[in-house]
Amino acid sequence: MTSRIKILPESLASKIAAGEVVQRPASAVKELVENSVDAHAKSISVIIKDAGKTLIHVIDDGDGMTPEDARVAFHRHATSKISTYEDLENILTLGFRGEALASIAAVSHVELRTRPHASSIGTKVRIEGGAIVDCEEDSTAPGTSIQIKNLFFNTPGRRNFLKSTNTEYKHIFDSIQNIALSYPEIAIKFISNDETVLNLKASSFNERFAEIFGEKLANSLIKFEDVNELITVNGYLGKPDYARKGRSEQFLFLNRRIIVSRNLNHAVFHAYEHLIEKGSFPVFVLFITIDPHKVDVNVHPSKMEVKFENESSVYRMIFTAVRKALSSHDLIPKVGMREDGSIDAFSKMQFQTSHQTPVPRPEWNSPTGLDKSSFVQTQQSFKSDSAFLNKIEKSFNEYHGTDSQPVQTEHQNPSTTISPIWQIHNKYIMVPIESGIMIVDQHAAHERVLYERAVERFNQTNIHSQQLLFPHTIQMNVGDVALIKDLLPHLEKLGFCIKLFGNTTVILEGVPVDIKPGNEGIILQDILDLYKEDEQNIKIEPKERLIKSYSCKAAVKSGDPLNLPEMHSLMDQLFATNLPYVCPHGRPVLIKMMLNELDKRFGRTS
Ligand code: ADP
Ligand code: MG
Repeated sequence: MTSRIKILPESLASKIAAGEVVQRPASAVKELVENSVDAHAKSISVIIKDAGKTLIHVIDDGDGMTPEDARVAFHRHATSKISTYEDLENILTLGFRGEALASIAAVSHVELRTRPHASSIGTKVRIEGGAIVDCEEDSTAPGTSIQIKNLFFNTPGRRNFLKSTNTEYKHIFDSIQNIALSYPEIAIKFISNDETVLNLKASSFNERFAEIFGEKLANSLIKFEDVNELITVNGYLGKPDYARKGRSEQFLFLNRRIIVSRNLNHAVFHAYEHLIEKGSFPVFVLFITIDPHKVDVNVHPSKMEVKFENESSVYRMIFTAVRKALSSHDLIPKVGMREDGSIDAFSKMQFQTSHQTPVPRPEWNSPTGLDKSSFVQTQQSFKSDSAFLNKIEKSFNEYHGTDSQPVQTEHQNPSTTISPIWQIHNKYIMVPIESGIMIVDQHAAHERVLYERAVERFNQTNIHSQQLLFPHTIQMNVGDVALIKDLLPHLEKLGFCIKLFGNTTVILEGVPVDIKPGNEGIILQDILDLYKEDEQNIKIEPKERLIKSYSCKAAVKSGDPLNLPEMHSLMDQLFATNLPYVCPHGRPVLIKMMLNELDKRFGRTS
């Protein structure tokens, strides 16, 4: 019996393989331009006709090839970039699979002209359907020129499946744009149907970006960099006002290679949450630099997919870096942050109150974090700086008018005059500001404050705990006690002092200083419950999850009445945080209603 299994002839096998690397004209352009970059080109020109269907011509002034290399370059797995398995784990070039030229040559007519800078004469090689038809000396300029004609001439199926000329052109443009963004130091020219589309000189990233996307968008970019032991993330973030309806202006580069990663894109998107409208997407160009050993780019022949050794850490790093960058740029317009982190409008109120006796803080409802001492402290620091006081007084009068009437709230001591700040429905705090009014969600605000304090505590060596006069004995189920056991080192860092007593009993001897007295046991149980709810979310480390659960459960709740000093203290602490605008779960902490918006609604023109 003859075998039914046959080894495919080389010509068919190479067409099948080519299909994976060269899916469309843009993939050929990408591969050729990447080769030019790897060959240290300072200048690259791409010339196309009919969206690459009839011609793709890439010319560079890079290293060039010797006659021997020029011949062998079109063989499958021919590469000068790696030679051992160790090299594969440490990819420093854009190419490494040795497939592109072979694949392109299998499905087109190719003419290569190349010359190393040190040689006086170059080489010309012509290949049709993968076979060398001509090879001779050639008087070409130093560098390499590759012309691809009649792409997919021998794979009509692929040719017929190409999309419209416009679509294919757009793909080519995008692949050139990607290289242009990641290698601004290389001059790039792009000519389509005899028309110069791009003529980019070697420049800085900012100049390059402005040349491609226009000055206006370039000027709106927030530049940032974040370095840790695992990765460096740097890049440029578009301000929320410039968010787009699509994702076309989102670029993710890994070690200068464009990559596609839904997960990492989500990390950036997540960081913008609540700063942009639903259905809009932020503009960003992000460069991730990571030790090549910690990432695998050999996932797919297109080399655009990557696998990280520790993807969830990379996700978190990107998320944090972007959040930090956004928060340091006062993205909510005109809150008027002072150097010390508190807001202008708020300082004005502090000023007025500092001439009054502070409202006594009723013990029944005061989360320790919002205590009077920080309020009094703030007043003292204002009092000691008379120039500052003058400034505040002046601006206070400017904004509120000298005849501004003091306002009273439901929780104030009736005999005390206070500045305008209100609690509404025991839920929101309303603060007038220069450009309108700010409404703060008291729970989210306190959550943010506690969250950042807790994160800081994890970085400190000493433990801040307040010992309970009477330790609480708490009965819990076996699972929760086991969970406490697991989380004990983290809980201790937060300030909990817990003794385990059998399988179902814990003794709470101390709690974090921010926890309000009276409910310690309930808060601990709430924290555990919330922690468990969030347990499916594997992207968040246990420590982070615990901090989030803690800050949520220890914070003042919606429905808790707050008195004036507490509200002031909360505002002051909120604006001393790194990210006052979003709570640790990503919900907004405050919204602003602009005066001009109100004017518009009331039909006012002035
Ligand atoms: P890879 O880039 O994965 O090595 P390619 O098939 O794209 O594989 O290219 C094969 C080899 O041809 C490269 O390793 C390189 O040595 C050489 N080569 C290709 N393009 C150029 C170029 N523009 N300049 C110099 N050498 C080149
Ligand atoms: Mg290559």
